[in-house]
Amino acid sequence: METPAAIPFHRPYITEDEISEVLDSLYAGWLTMGPKTIAFEAKYREYIGSRNAVSMNSCTACLHLALKAVNIKKGDEVIVPAITFAATAEVVTYFHATPVFVDVDEGTHTIDVSKIEEKITKKTKAIIPVHYAGQPCDMDEILDIAKKHGLFVIEDAAHAVPAWYKERKIGTIGDITCFSFYATKSLTTGEGGMATTENDEWAERMSILRLHGISKDAWKRYTNEGSWYYEVAESGYKYNMTDIQAGLGLAQLKKVDWMWHQREEIARKYAEAFQSMDEITPPRVKSDRKSAWHLYVIKLNPAAVNLDRKQFMEELKERGIGTSVHFIPLYRHPYYRDTFRYTPQGFPVSERVYERIVSLPIYPGMTEGDIERVAESVRDVVRRHRR
Ligand SMILES: *Cc1c(COP(=O)(O)O)cnc(C)c1O
Repeated sequence: METPAAIPFHRPYITEDEISEVLDSLYAGWLTMGPKTIAFEAKYREYIGSRNAVSMNSCTACLHLALKAVNIKKGDEVIVPAITFAATAEVVTYFHATPVFVDVDEGTHTIDVSKIEEKITKKTKAIIPVHYAGQPCDMDEILDIAKKHGLFVIEDAAHAVPAWYKERKIGTIGDITCFSFYATKSLTTGEGGMATTENDEWAERMSILRLHGISKDAWKRYTNEGSWYYEVAESGYKYNMTDIQAGLGLAQLKKVDWMWHQREEIARKYAEAFQSMDEITPPRVKSDRKSAWHLYVIKLNPAAVNLDRKQFMEELKERGIGTSVHFIPLYRHPYYRDTFRYTPQGFPVSERVYERIVSLPIYPGMTEGDIERVAESVRDVVRRHRR
């Protein structure tokens, strides 16, 4: 029998729609921020239901300018979950401020809201909750804590388009919400990001800062109504999106709900295949929220299965199945460990979670056969290593 083709961990869903949008920009000769970027922002605002949407060249840039908009300063402290991508904490260090890590919840891998207040000091200015894997954090509790202590809530929604918390769409809840359109994310522009907010002043400040602090967007300068004249209001950055990226975004946005349904369906099939297996714990989503299903993260149960995560991933790889790990806890990285003196002892749950987590493929474009093959391979590998 022929060996079936490998199933990669991720593949973006790109069709003729995306290709023709990009070609359109190339033929028009307008490559950087212009009409498509403006249209993408308008459509995104409409899709999320937010008052403002400011596009940038990454979610990292959005997180940076969001912290800048709320005036994070040197010496401030910002609360960040211990398990997230480097970008969430890195942006805090841009200000010579301190990322203060909080352990995660064992069930959802989102920030443990019962452990936030003990980390708050007079220097704390903001909380950056991360909607891990696409599951919204405990936003009511986070907003209550923020209100009580006068903190800003900047959401890292890199995994969360679309996701809902108690019927409210992610992007309309905290002070500023930052989305990622990186190549592996649930809506992609290759590289890109969007910051949504109800606050017009913050939106205006972010849109000025994303383009050199210039008080008018450059694209307006080149239209008939515009002119060559511009003013630099403050020292800014080169963070703008391009029309090539926005074209991809416009095409992706048209199918973003369909892609979400595809992932939800895959998650449902995995859940069915893994139910009542004590070797692994499938992800759990709380009943009052809906996950974007950006990631499908299972945990190995060391009490029931006699193989470690590395071996498990290798055996799946031998069967042609790509997997990944999200994420190495931040306090384990040399930079955070050495600069802020973090040790694993402070994060017992993150330690337990980290050793056991594996992310399985979940993306539109997986066939029925792919989904079954992943599920069957996982079942087979762990069963061969039952204790
Ligand atoms: C991908 C990711 C980011 C960064 O997004 P970019 O668009 O690549 O800057 C931030 N936070 C989390 C949790 C991510 O997974």
